[in-house]
Amino acid sequence: MEDTTAAEEKTVSLTILRTAGLVEPGFFQAVAEVVRRYNLTVYLSTAQNIRLLDVRESDRDAIMKELAAKGARFKGTVKFPLARVCVSRPHCKLGKFDTFALARRISDHFEGWEKIKPKVKIAISGCTAACSGPLTTDIGIVGTPVGLDVYVGGKLGALPKVGRRILRRADEDRVIAVIEELVTYHYNQPGKKLRMFKLINNDDFPYPEAV
Ligand code: SF4
Repeated sequence: MEDTTAAEEKTVSLTILRTAGLVEPGFFQAVAEVVRRYNLTVYLSTAQNIRLLDVRESDRDAIMKELAAKGARFKGTVKFPLARVCVSRPHCKLGKFDTFALARRISDHFEGWEKIKPKVKIAISGCTAACSGPLTTDIGIVGTPVGLDVYVGGKLGALPKVGRRILRRADEDRVIAVIEELVTYHYNQPGKKLRMFKLINNDDFPYPEAV
């Protein structure tokens, strides 16, 4: 009887957010220990987070508490999207800048930011090979030999779209200011789950032309 009850217990998933997809050794070890003890499955998501599968509902709170004590932040507790990044410099010889550092700067700048609605994703690539998909993401940043380009309105899905390039040769400060401007514009539009591509042809969209 007990086996049957256990088999029927509902399971859920828990997503642990990682800035730039980076995992420190101590945290890695803590997650591995929980996975082993609770017999979970680990899935590394395309958003570069750690998703724990097969979490029994009755174990969820204990797992969250244990990992939160080790510094875990869970999906749903952080509003601002974390950027998906490629490895770039110095790990890729084509990289034009440090994508991990920019992802951290964005994360720090928007820490606690409340004026954000769902459905905004950010991707950063160290060069125009665009390995992290910045051209097909709501807001994409691409390194070039002369600075950073910014794209807006890209998406994947059944009908993929390439975003509009709205900024060229920018520095990181300018990129962060533009992200703030874009998410604020997005936040101020009516509707709950709007993708950027639906907004970029609005009459008042701040970047009407590709550059
Ligand atoms: S986008 Fe460029 S820098 Fe980044 S991993 Fe791909 S080739 Fe390397």
